[in-house]
Amino acid sequence: MKKLYVGTNTKMYKTPSAAVEHVLKLRELTRDIAQQLELFVIPSYTSIAPCVQAVGEDILIGAQNMGWEDEGQYTGEISAPMLEEVGARLVMIGHSERRHVLHETDEEEQKKIACAARHDFKILLCVGETAQQKSYEISRETLAQQLKIGLHGLDAEIALHRLWIAYEPVWAIGVNGVPADEHYASEMHRHIKAVLEELYGDQGREIPVLYGGSVNNENAVKLIAQPYIDGLFIGRSAWSAENFNQIIREILPVFRSRDLAEK
Ligand code: PEP
Repeated sequence: MKKLYVGTNTKMYKTPSAAVEHVLKLRELTRDIAQQLELFVIPSYTSIAPCVQAVGEDILIGAQNMGWEDEGQYTGEISAPMLEEVGARLVMIGHSERRHVLHETDEEEQKKIACAARHDFKILLCVGETAQQKSYEISRETLAQQLKIGLHGLDAEIALHRLWIAYEPVWAIGVNGVPADEHYASEMHRHIKAVLEELYGDQGREIPVLYGGSVNNENAVKLIAQPYIDGLFIGRSAWSAENFNQIIREILPVFRSRDLAEK
């Protein structure tokens, strides 16, 4: 049975105690469907250890970023060994706010991915075009570039077992974001899977591709009903455990019936 990928990035919100309360509640609410989910939460660095202590392996806890060296003169950065020691098992690389607010480049994302690959992390690479790139009709080229540079040199064995992609159009993310139309999102996912196939062969299509960007109670079902969308990566609408649980329960049967129909 295919698992539904659902996760949230809490950005620079939630103190450690609030993050722990969130994951504990989420685990409680989703306990009966946990086997059907790949459920993950990516809180701030200081919340990782307490969240892991609170829920253990029941919810995958990740980090929002990571430096590309194991140690060094990088004030303010965090390293793979530091994250490993506190129990993070997933690292998100290239979130739109890291790319566009903090000006990270594809080459930097590539170095971070190579570092995450050397360690045992699952890797969530975020890609997405800006509104301007979309208006120039270079969304596909932008996504291909982000994937091909970001994943350059990544071993197929690691990619096929530990890599997840989040398609998050920059114009769709956050309080000023406009959610992508589900058909457009599905078409971009189809393109991402084609690039993954180019990089890793037929099996590249199995790499999970999640949609993110203003997912909410109104659009979640429409998005998950589309082909090529393997899960949802949700910000604001998932910061209440109750609402996150409600969205998961609404999309799960739709995902299940799609999975059956595709077999
Ligand atoms: C995000 O920041 O990755 C995100 C998807 O946020 P939101 O759902 O709030 O747009």
